[in-house]
Amino acid sequence: MLAKPSSIRFSILVTAVALMLGGPATAAPSSRAQAQALTILKRAIGFRSVGGPGNQTPQLANYLKEVLVSGGFAAGDVNITRVDDTAYLVARYRGSDRTLKPLLLSGHIDVVEAKRSDWARDPFTPVVENGYIYGRGATDMKFDDALMIASLIDLKSEHFVPKRDVVLILSGDEETIMKTTQMLAARFSDAYLVLNGDSGGGILGEDGKPQYFLLEGAEKAYGDYKLTFTNPGGHSSAPRRENAIYDLAAVLTRIGHHQFTPQLNEITKAYFQAASSRADPATGGAMRTFTADPTDKQAIATLTADPTFVGQIGTTCVATMIDGGHAPNALPQRAAANINCRIFPGTSFKQVEAELVRVAADPRMQVRFIDIGTTASPPSPMRADVTAAVKEALAAGYKDVPIIPSMGSGASDSMWFRVRGVPSYGVAPIFIKEDEDFSHGLNERTPLSNLAPGLAYWKVLIQRLAN
Ligand SMILES: [Zn+2]
Repeated sequence: MLAKPSSIRFSILVTAVALMLGGPATAAPSSRAQAQALTILKRAIGFRSVGGPGNQTPQLANYLKEVLVSGGFAAGDVNITRVDDTAYLVARYRGSDRTLKPLLLSGHIDVVEAKRSDWARDPFTPVVENGYIYGRGATDMKFDDALMIASLIDLKSEHFVPKRDVVLILSGDEETIMKTTQMLAARFSDAYLVLNGDSGGGILGEDGKPQYFLLEGAEKAYGDYKLTFTNPGGHSSAPRRENAIYDLAAVLTRIGHHQFTPQLNEITKAYFQAASSRADPATGGAMRTFTADPTDKQAIATLTADPTFVGQIGTTCVATMIDGGHAPNALPQRAAANINCRIFPGTSFKQVEAELVRVAADPRMQVRFIDIGTTASPPSPMRADVTAAVKEALAAGYKDVPIIPSMGSGASDSMWFRVRGVPSYGVAPIFIKEDEDFSHGLNERTPLSNLAPGLAYWKVLIQRLAN
């Protein structure tokens, strides 16, 4: 909307007063900030920041440091730490009250591998076409990295001084082993709270209009369990009762029919309450019943039958891989399966393992938890100040977008902070259509219409929660 002359004069006055006080900045992103965000995003996609040989995450971190320093950060306030083949970046935006705990803005600058031969375009060359930017990391999550950096620089240019320090932390191996995240969580275990640009986010309808925004306050834990049967085997012309493949098949059938006890927490309760009015009548009714009584059999059956919601009502475990046998004419000496579990917050890996053993009901079976260095984490409390700030920040870019609390299926950097007692919220302001989320997949792309509202969003969110 065009401002009337009088309001332009008023905003000049407000800006002048703000400059004198070092006080509030504006919500609207400058055109310079928009151009800068796009430049950062394009340059960032150009770095092949994939774990392993040729990892360019350190080079990307160096580039981002240059951008931050030329944007007004003191060189000593932007630090890069090399860790193995990667690096993480910490940039401190100094506040006026050093006694306050810092507000963290969290992101990661590594991406999932992408093969040129599989993509229609080179994944590490940014391409702008039909209002989208294409490239590995266009959604996950170089777009939000660019928005956060350009917003901080825009706030610097307006001489905004927060009360508490705002610290941008960019991890360098979120997509693999999360070693840098764990180092960051250890270093900032006293933080006020974490705003994670890697989760949460908005959904666009088929008409391109924002439908709702997911505010992520909890994550399920990721756990793989290897189930194995072994025996001496023998000649296939002389079958015996004991057969590793049949034994495994029987156990898998029992696990396939097993349902973990449905659970409800503050986040999923709020999620179902908000989502029930958007769902079809039967599903919406089941959501309402389930929030009132999580033991209601009919509601559980309805929600379990829907792949979108089954993961929201409890722990799920599913067979994802099998292998076994060693020759077509031999009795199998070994058969094994991988069971992938998404574990409801509050339940431990050990508890899930014990339940799998109980359901399998075969003492000959060996179970091994595959430790990939992940963790279970508690939900973050639903905080009225965070929800109010997100609501105001969304309003800076969009009109009346409902906020729905959500529990992610795991696993983002947030879990390493939550497990240390630092509340963490997935608050990415990227709106995309449900069927256009190609994170980790082929031809990843994000609508550029997210640039201006995304910048306005971060500016407001940072100002509200840092003061
Ligand atoms: Zn990500």
